[in-house]
Amino acid sequence: MYWTDECVPPAKSVSIYTRVCIYRSVFPLGHAAVAYLFYVVYAALSTRRLPTRWALVPLAIGSQFPDLVDKPLAYAGVLTYGRSLAHSVFTLIIVSSLVWLVTRRFEKRWQATDWREQLRVLSPAAFTIGYASHLFGDVYRSVLAGQYLEGRFLLYPIYALPETSADQIPPWIRILNYYQHMENQVEMGVILLAGVVFLGVRIRTAR
Ligand SMILES: [Zn+2]
Repeated sequence: MYWTDECVPPAKSVSIYTRVCIYRSVFPLGHAAVAYLFYVVYAALSTRRLPTRWALVPLAIGSQFPDLVDKPLAYAGVLTYGRSLAHSVFTLIIVSSLVWLVTRRFEKRWQATDWREQLRVLSPAAFTIGYASHLFGDVYRSVLAGQYLEGRFLLYPIYALPETSADQIPPWIRILNYYQHMENQVEMGVILLAGVVFLGVRIRTAR
């Protein structure tokens, strides 16, 4: 076992973990904000339609999916690292393909105006964009810092991954602890930007 320079060993306190480790982490709100901004760009470029309400559901699920799988499994000791199985591009491809296949099975079942049909049509792209944006959010700071090796979890299980003390802290404690220190919100700018864009989109679509 070896520790990444990302975090301190578990003998140190949670508050030290918070100060040292959060700068490399993106938390749920940040992931949701990045996913939303990605989807706005996608919707504007592809369908030329602004994000609709039903796209937000699969988008939100996709944006949290890797952490919802890996963090609890790492805490339970099933995985050795909180960014591994579901943080792999291979899993992204498999799970997104499954979502697409499931939605195909429900084709021609509902009217076009039915909310279930809208959800069915929007889900594959929205889920995939949410999922991919999560991986981007987890890796971009390492890439900008030139620490490309830290992004090797994207190719799990090809590379051996480190263990971190962060995974020995329950995921819900990490999140609670993080949001108690709002001054540490490194992604605050992105969250604010997503909030402004969201309001702008709502006002435009309400006209
Ligand atoms: Zn993650």
